Amino acid sequence: MSQFPDAKFILSAASPQQFPADRGSEVAVAGRSNAGKSSAINAIVNRRQLAKTGKTPGRTQLINFFELGKGQRLVDLPGYGFARVHAEVRRNWSLLLESYFEGRASLKGLLLVVDCRRGLGEFDLTMLAFADDRRIPVHVLLTKADKLNKKDAAASLQQAQAQLGASASVQLFSALRQRGLEESREALLRFLGTERRQR
Ligand code: GDP
Repeated sequence: MSQFPDAKFILSAASPQQFPADRGSEVAVAGRSNAGKSSAINAIVNRRQLAKTGKTPGRTQLINFFELGKGQRLVDLPGYGFARVHAEVRRNWSLLLESYFEGRASLKGLLLVVDCRRGLGEFDLTMLAFADDRRIPVHVLLTKADKLNKKDAAASLQQAQAQLGASASVQLFSALRQRGLEESREALLRFLGTERRQR
């Protein structure tokens, strides 16, 4: 049973003017493209197709807003691999994300999805800096943990913890194996300001 049975897509925004009203609380989810962000969102919200996985032309460079419950939103931020994009796309992305982070009063936390085999990269450090500028708390999901053996997964966790220090909490996660769901849901609810779902 989903903790968010009423979760639904609100809109996709290409500019701040299109953002929904800045009321209530929302948690943003970011990740380098292909890190496993859509799979993580679907697993956490327990809705198979809420965020589309894989290649979705059109939606990938937009900020997608979802309603989780009354006055509570989850915000799917566009991600990409830095090396592969055109400078102009990168600049537009940066401006859109900057205006989102700077101006969004209802933003209460960031979930950062990182492929546990790659570790934190340039994209992730940019997102951490955006969050840090606004003192937004961050929780890192080291996803695809099913792809590493126990020892390597533990090493990946330890390395991320050492890099992040006190700036973020971090956990191992696997959408495929449904691993780490409780911990990630707790972080989401903590950021939203609701320890348990209120109906
Ligand atoms: P996004 O681009 O960050 O939204 O990533 P997606 O969620 O679309 O996933 C990218 C690829 O990684 C897809 O082929 C997924 O099936 C795969 N993937 C995502 N999460 C996991 C996971 O936990 N384990 C494994 N083994 N594969 C995953």
